[in-house]
Amino acid sequence: MATFCFHLKRDFDRELVALEVDTTVTEITHAVGNLIDQFAKLPGIGRKSAERLTYYILRIHALEAFELADAIRNVKENVRYCKSCFNLSEDEECVICCNPKRECNVLCVVEQPCDLISLEQTGVYHGLYHVLLGRIAPLEGIGPDQLTIEALVKRVRSAKFDEIVMATNPTVEGDGTALHISNLLADIPVRITRLARGITTGSVLEYANKEILSDALAGRQDF
Ligand SMILES: [Zn+2]
Repeated sequence: MATFCFHLKRDFDRELVALEVDTTVTEITHAVGNLIDQFAKLPGIGRKSAERLTYYILRIHALEAFELADAIRNVKENVRYCKSCFNLSEDEECVICCNPKRECNVLCVVEQPCDLISLEQTGVYHGLYHVLLGRIAPLEGIGPDQLTIEALVKRVRSAKFDEIVMATNPTVEGDGTALHISNLLADIPVRITRLARGITTGSVLEYANKEILSDALAGRQDF
């Protein structure tokens, strides 16, 4: 009896597995499968989340879904990098570089536009920025030439900055990038500082909260 039950259960499990396989292969249209594949390519989105997002899109009103599609097309067609600081912008220069109220004597160096946004949200920094668009990561084959370091050095040489704030992420690669840049700027008479270590080593600015970032900015130290 026990053996019989075991066989029954095993056959039932087999059927379930077969059903699941059939579902993924035959019951999803090409268009739906394609959207799942596209969502699954996004960072932090696994296959299950991609399926949930796809079914959400299928449920909502067509106009709402088209707004999402248009928003994606719009950023890809109209957003570019600021010619001065490499922040995201819809014009040649970004809103920060164009703002006459910003302090032009302080330049904060960050890895990505999202780091700039995190620092802006603290409301305590009023200087300019330079976005590197990455960090030196030899293991991933990313060298200084693939970042905006050359433009940064030119900018620091040609403008009159009193202070350069290194606000790269407190990771091995972020620290290495900051050190590389500070060496390149060594012959320029400018004070180079870095954020205070309120930020946990190995973390990223994007996820640090406002208070920690404010303290890190206020307590910045000479590099
Ligand atoms: Zn800019």
